[in-house]
Amino acid sequence: MVERPFKKILIVGAGPSGLLLAILLAKHGIPTEILEASHELDKQPRAAIYGSAAVPDLARAGIIEEVRRRGMSPTSMCWRRWADHGWITGMDGACMADVDGQDLRMACLVLDQLDQLMLEEFEGRHHGTVRWRHRVVDTGQDEDGAWVHVETPEGRRQIFADYVVGCDGATSQVRKSVFGDEFPGFTWDKQIVATNVYYDFDKYGFKDSSFVLHPEHFYMAARITSDGLYRVTYGESPGLSWEEMKARQPWKYELMLPGHPKPGEYKLVSMSPYKMHQRCAPAFRSGRILLAADAAHLCNPWGGMGITGGFVDVGGLYDCLAGIWDGRADDSILDLYSEKRVQKWRDIINPVSSDNFRRVSDPDPDSLPKRDPVMQACIKAEHDPELQRQMYMAGFALRYDFTQHYKDREGVNGGSGKEGEGK
Ligand SMILES: Cc1cc2nc3c(=O)[nH]c(=O)nc-3n(C[C@H](O)[C@H](O)[C@H](O)COP(=O)(O)OP(=O)(O)OC[C@H]3O[C@@H](n4cnc5c(N)ncnc54)[C@H](O)[C@@H]3O)c2cc1C
Repeated sequence: MVERPFKKILIVGAGPSGLLLAILLAKHGIPTEILEASHELDKQPRAAIYGSAAVPDLARAGIIEEVRRRGMSPTSMCWRRWADHGWITGMDGACMADVDGQDLRMACLVLDQLDQLMLEEFEGRHHGTVRWRHRVVDTGQDEDGAWVHVETPEGRRQIFADYVVGCDGATSQVRKSVFGDEFPGFTWDKQIVATNVYYDFDKYGFKDSSFVLHPEHFYMAARITSDGLYRVTYGESPGLSWEEMKARQPWKYELMLPGHPKPGEYKLVSMSPYKMHQRCAPAFRSGRILLAADAAHLCNPWGGMGITGGFVDVGGLYDCLAGIWDGRADDSILDLYSEKRVQKWRDIINPVSSDNFRRVSDPDPDSLPKRDPVMQACIKAEHDPELQRQMYMAGFALRYDFTQHYKDREGVNGGSGKEGEGK
């Protein structure tokens, strides 16, 4: 039997990042277990659209076809004027359907259904274990291993592994166990409300995703299921109570949406308030404890960079752990994981997502297309499919190929720090 450098990985959190990492590791034959605080998967209306940069990792996990089959492959996005909902400019990602034989279009499946698909895959195909009702309350480590303290219905326990990966979301206990309350960044002073609604947007020419510009009543309307469910996320005044936001929802819809619908003219399925943050942990590694996705970094949801970036973290972390497992990398590759993924958040996720939000809530939307370089680039690319394709491909700068640092690739292209790639 081959002697392996470690025996087991513990993942904290059965959200999208934890489940994807678990599938990738299990598929590679690396013993992996998930600890989840809740008794079930999360059902809040959150992510639905996964950017092209994350598609290679969903493909490596063997689930991209099923994601597209259960969900959709939306391609178009545009900005619209608020007053008449008219089209300003936009892009069509249909050009990503065949990139050297790969379908790299965005994928869309509401998060609870994606989580369910990944859980089926991890438990069913890879015989993985999720320990429900296991809330991690602390972590620890020494030279030989790492551990977590968990609260379970049967009492408090300690569980050991070689590495612990915190995929436990924005309020990550794993992150707090390493960095305390240190989570540098800021919280936006604007509040948002995410709703899922059946409403006939098609009648008004809305397609996949529309960002409607307004300093106060900005919103996004994105089709998220093939039966016509839309995600409408809109801005609300800060300081309102949840009861006040619920009471204002019919007024906001009538004011903002095309056709100015009254209750009864749409079917509201769900509604949740969110605060928006731009934050990044000081590092994504502390010895044998690692962080990925929301546990490591947060951004506002305009432009869908949250779990897209999280999935790319996970794909990179998988390459690092698989490299160590196979003896093709030593443990120091995990320092590189932390360094490169923090850098990608600072250079790409944070500025791009911040600009996305500033754009949709700009104080002078009428003059924005003349001032904004991204909108100007879109206007230029409208009749130039090759330019559109280049703009979509630029999104792959989010990726980083850690396999170039495998020992057996040193001297080939090892250490070259190739950006924007990844297995
Ligand atoms: C309105 C909205 C829309 C969004 N839309 C998009 C989008 O379209 N595209 C996109 O890319 N991103 C989007 N995002 C962001 C995306 O939803 C998040 O980035 C993603 O859910 C984070 O996944 P995660 O696995 O890191 O954490 P989570 O989804 O938060 O999962 C963490 C898991 O860990 C568990 N857990 C927590 N604490 C513990 C503990 N102590 N012990 C054990 N388990 C624990 C939780 O119960 C949960 O199951 C959106 C966000 C919002 C708010």
